[in-house]
Amino acid sequence: MAAENYTNGNSKSSFKIPEIKFTKLFINGEFVDSVSGKTFETIDPRSEEVIANIAEGDKEDVDLAVKAAREAFDHGPWPRMPGSEKKKIMMKFVDLVEQNIEELAALDAIDAGKVFSHGKIREIPFGASILRNYAGAADMLYSKTVKLNDQLQGYTLNKPIGVVGHIIPWNFPCGMFFFKVSPAMAAGCTMVVKPAEQSPLSALYCAHLAKLAGVPDGVINVVTGYGPTAGAAISSHMDIDCLSFTGSTEVGRLVMQAAATSNLKSVSLELGAKSPLIIFDDVDVDDTVKLALMGGFANKGEFCVCSSRIFVQEGIYDEFVTKFALYAKGITVGDPFDPSSIQGPQVDKAQYEKVLSYIEHGKRQGATLLTGGKPCGEKGYYIEPTIFTDVTDDMLIATDEIFGPVISVIKFKTIEEAIARVNLTRYGLAAGIATKDLNIANTVSRSIHAGIIWMNCYLAFDADCPYGGYKMSGFGRQFGMEGLYKYIQVKSIVTPVQNLHVWNGGQSRPRRTLRR
Ligand code: NAD
Repeated sequence: MAAENYTNGNSKSSFKIPEIKFTKLFINGEFVDSVSGKTFETIDPRSEEVIANIAEGDKEDVDLAVKAAREAFDHGPWPRMPGSEKKKIMMKFVDLVEQNIEELAALDAIDAGKVFSHGKIREIPFGASILRNYAGAADMLYSKTVKLNDQLQGYTLNKPIGVVGHIIPWNFPCGMFFFKVSPAMAAGCTMVVKPAEQSPLSALYCAHLAKLAGVPDGVINVVTGYGPTAGAAISSHMDIDCLSFTGSTEVGRLVMQAAATSNLKSVSLELGAKSPLIIFDDVDVDDTVKLALMGGFANKGEFCVCSSRIFVQEGIYDEFVTKFALYAKGITVGDPFDPSSIQGPQVDKAQYEKVLSYIEHGKRQGATLLTGGKPCGEKGYYIEPTIFTDVTDDMLIATDEIFGPVISVIKFKTIEEAIARVNLTRYGLAAGIATKDLNIANTVSRSIHAGIIWMNCYLAFDADCPYGGYKMSGFGRQFGMEGLYKYIQVKSIVTPVQNLHVWNGGQSRPRRTLRR
């Protein structure tokens, strides 16, 4: 795609959309065509036009990428490099990401419809902070000594788990690249990354930056392509040791089955959700409306943790609903490069149609459409921020992950009722609580089945704070040291304190010693 100037007619700002430089698979440090020579189109959700043709990786390409990663793991420098050296290279990688933030944010804006300023100010700096944090951890992976008993002593070794397969969704293409790659790099692993077919551009650009930073060839390989082909080849590959998947619960199940029926590789799954925000009578309604808007509509609702079910206590329900609708109508939906846009287009036609079909379900099942509910704009996949009230727990809009700008507001009376109804879901990723009462906050936070609870805040992520799912939202944790240890094998080395030690039926006493 040729470089294009985006100029917002109403403001003086202009931004030059970058040329697409990287469209091929990245294997063993080189950009290469797919074995079949096939390509697929990546589409701009603003205009529904083709941005670029991307190499379509399949099983043969995954085999080549895994071979490169295996060679780099078994014989290359990365797994053997001291943590301090790995840290230097990873910090150089961070510097390059920070120098290229605008380009990366622009690629995600045209590829996934993400608001450019959010990418530039939030998502990509956060991705860089994850890489920086794990760069620090690369040098801090302490083993421990183990005193077994009087005769035996031991120590543990933290060994990288091996070749990792990372499968990534489209909602945070660049951020997610760093969420996955950074801890695996710090552990000393090598890897094959498959970005989502809807949003492959920023991952390829990041692979180029990794090479510039000095990451050895074969450590990071990127195979672009479709899920049932390239993704499935990764999940079932006999030479991949660990799989880190983020995506829908349905595909997570397939990935786990493939891992189970191939080589029993370890799996972590970050899956779908239907997260609640519970608002109690004692809050400041205006402030909490803003919290609910941010939690529910951030990233156009294409956010695994978005608060798509908002439970409001009956004392403030009417006031909350009136103000919530008013504020939601004020959200500007438009081109992601327009500085006034808060919400861009949904990622693609399939997602756009899925969201609109859920809105129809909501209306058909008897919920009240408070605001929104329609597509907007002449072209592109734009949808109005949509709020339903009078939602019952069994309606599809209350049970299913819609992954779009659609929120259900639900009235409740008591704490006990709120806890019971909030937990009435197959998911358990995140939840929010808004109250000034510490007793309520503590009680409710302990009772909700979810991996992260935000009290009087929402979407408060940090590189140090682990998060992940309960129930069908998956298992395993991202961020913090918990996010690193899934890429580590702990090996114990045991040795006698003196001489040769022979097991004597559990007494742990030396029965025979070798004379020196
Ligand atoms: P998806 O499951 O359709 O696809 C995710 C990835 O899996 C893509 O790269 C896709 O190509 C690949 N894939 C598809 N079929 C496959 C198969 N048979 N084998 C292997 N790989 C396959 O999900 P999506 O639509 O890209 O993303 C949205 C989903 O991701 C939502 O459910 C959302 O909640 C979830 N998500 C979860 C988290 C979390 O941390 N829990 C974060 C972001 C997104």
